[in-house]
Amino acid sequence: EVSKWREFDYFALALQWPGTVCRGTRQCCSYNACCRGSNAPSEFTIHGLWPDYNDGSWPACCSHSRFDIKEISSLLSALEKYWPSLSCGSPSTCDGHKGTFWAHEWEKHGTCSYPVIRNEYDYFLTTLNVYFKYNVTKVLSEAGYVASDSEKYPLGGIVSAIENAFHASPLVVCSGNDVEELRLCLYKDFKPRDCVVSSLVQAGAVSSKGSCPKYVRLPVYVS
Ligand code: 5GP
Ligand code: 5GP
Repeated sequence: EVSKWREFDYFALALQWPGTVCRGTRQCCSYNACCRGSNAPSEFTIHGLWPDYNDGSWPACCSHSRFDIKEISSLLSALEKYWPSLSCGSPSTCDGHKGTFWAHEWEKHGTCSYPVIRNEYDYFLTTLNVYFKYNVTKVLSEAGYVASDSEKYPLGGIVSAIENAFHASPLVVCSGNDVEELRLCLYKDFKPRDCVVSSLVQAGAVSSKGSCPKYVRLPVYVS
């Protein structure tokens, strides 16, 4: 079914930092990657690929296409590794049923990426490909920004490292002093572009939730 929404303007690839996200999630849920110590991720993992509008808003739940894990069976080992669920909450999907993290991301965001992305398989494959193409963890570690509980890094240095590598400004989201998410924005042809800071935030009318202090940490993942 075709989207009932106005077509989106650009994508945000939302990446999460396991060392920060997992702190809230120690001993829980069966599908929770936080509980799997042996393959603890020490790199940004995928939160989702999000269609956005240039005014800072975004469409959500654009069709009734229900998530079907069978459509992505050939991608599951990659998704478990690079797109793990790191939180215990089972998210609700667009029509209110409980689903997995993947179901939530496809139904809420993926369905709005039409016509650039046309189906569930295409959504997950495209997101993995973009994640591999723009390796944010590698760019940061080459600039000296590696996981550490003691080091504090200048936010401006992290942003500059990404800007130098991809020629576009990312958005960084923090929880206290800790980097929780990094969003890399992309045109519809998947070339990098600047992320949009909503005009309400720019005007100071609303505070930007999760905004970062001048010095931030990339905490080590503990399971
Ligand atoms: P939060 O309020 O935790 O920042 O975001 C809650 C949810 O709102 C996110 O998981 C995501 O689904 C959606 N969201 C937040 N910011 C954006 C954004 O800039 N673009 C899009 N497309 N969705 C967002
Ligand atoms: P969003 O922020 O994309 O709208 O929603 C994320 C939803 O998925 C929340 O309901 C959250 O509880 C659930 N969830 C499951 N695993 C994860 C995860 O690894 N990261 C985040 N941010 N949310 C997760």
